[in-house]
Amino acid sequence: MTILSGKRGLIMGVANESSAAWGIAKKASELGAELAFTYQMPAFEKRLAPLADSIGADILIPCDVSEENASKIAMEQLSKHWTEIDFVVHAVGFSDKQQLRGAYYNTTRDNFKQTMLISTFSFTELAQASSMMMPNGGSLLTLSYLGGVKTTPNYNVMGVAKAALEASVRYLAVDLGGRNIRVNGVSAGPMKTLAGAAISGARGIFRHSEQNAPLGRNPDIYEVGNAACYLLSDLSSGVTGEIHYVDGGFNNVGVPASDV
Ligand code: NAD
Repeated sequence: MTILSGKRGLIMGVANESSAAWGIAKKASELGAELAFTYQMPAFEKRLAPLADSIGADILIPCDVSEENASKIAMEQLSKHWTEIDFVVHAVGFSDKQQLRGAYYNTTRDNFKQTMLISTFSFTELAQASSMMMPNGGSLLTLSYLGGVKTTPNYNVMGVAKAALEASVRYLAVDLGGRNIRVNGVSAGPMKTLAGAAISGARGIFRHSEQNAPLGRNPDIYEVGNAACYLLSDLSSGVTGEIHYVDGGFNNVGVPASDV
């Protein structure tokens, strides 16, 4: 028996094998979970299919969260395969790359709405839809970044979206706690993914975090996966509404020792 044996979960956000969602899926599978996946668009299905196949998963459902009722429709499709699920991972984020540079105040109204809809509101919608398939409780998990609580260069509207996402974690934890559904977030340090590369100066931020984190490195997607599995499993049965950092300790540093 391993910590996710007998549990079924849905993973949203695998774009390729570098995705944080893939690190979580791989570790969850190793720890005994049976998984289903959603993908944003057909081009991503082609990359997801062999990865899912490598861990024996064959339920792949389209879900573009910018579309009306996308999560609800995806959960309806999932319910044709499984009647209940134990956990959901939301590893989705998007903002116009052109606005992940320069001043935050240049964010356009359209991109603000789009960023908040895809990166923040989609988690609330997913929580509502997936909780219907959790009659015996469950665990919901999303991914955040330090830029939601402190400023980091060029993160701009994504930082504002992550702040709202972290607040959503707390509100959803209260909404769903009575049904024994726990809601948490992992705030990961910089990882080299498609979304990570969209932020202007990503390499410099990666290097700075690596050099100044107490562990002297950034996390990889599998370390994020390990921490996620704790939050998805019954080992964290008393934990909800939390944002758990997996960043080599970087968020704890005020003045970096290397600067003195
Ligand atoms: P990624 O590019 O591999 O994953 C982002 C995912 O978002 C992709 O699978 C993409 O298909 C999905 N997505 C975007 N728009 C969507 C839409 N309209 N509908 C459905 N899915 C959509 O990058 P990642 O770094 O693995 O990102 C996953 C999460 O981790 C994001 O929330 C990101 O903000 C967060 N995060 C990333 C880092 C980092 O340094 N890479 C650090 C902390 C947190």
